[in-house]
Amino acid sequence: MQALRQPLEQGSVSITRSSGTVAYPCRFMLVAATNPCPCGWAGDAARACRCSPAAVDAYQRALSGPLLDRIDLNVTVPRPPLEALGREPQAESTAVVRARVLEARVRQHARQAGLNGSLRVAELRRHAALDPPARRALERWASERGLTARGFHRAWRVARTVADLAGQERVAEEHVLEALGYRLFERAA
Ligand SMILES: [Zn+2]
Repeated sequence: MQALRQPLEQGSVSITRSSGTVAYPCRFMLVAATNPCPCGWAGDAARACRCSPAAVDAYQRALSGPLLDRIDLNVTVPRPPLEALGREPQAESTAVVRARVLEARVRQHARQAGLNGSLRVAELRRHAALDPPARRALERWASERGLTARGFHRAWRVARTVADLAGQERVAEEHVLEALGYRLFERAA
């Protein structure tokens, strides 16, 4: 897992052998899932977790801080009730969401000739300027949760994307708060 850190950050992977070092391009989206604890039931409403606190702690520590720092969207997915499995899903269809995502991508390309995820810090200031309340919300979270500089900028980019998905040119406090809501792991810190 630690070997993923460099490719996640730089979009390239370096392989060193006795004959020399080669860098390969590797832009990818990392999607990962984990149980909350060794038995898998921690946080479940219907069934009790039987793990000791030390076991849960050791289990969660397997995901290092530096790796979690590079994961932008962290979402807890509760177990669906069994009776819901046989019914038609209630959520928006993938086609509806896809249209919204494509629209947000068009906005990004029109504004800055690239996607939010690859904005450098100077470009963030220019293309994702924060309202004073939005800036305060991000700074408060950063100091309370001990956010790294990388985490700070990553949350800022996500807030830019949340605003784009809402069709908003300005990044407002609500967009920052939603982006920070996806950094759940920092709540435990
Ligand atoms: Zn458990």
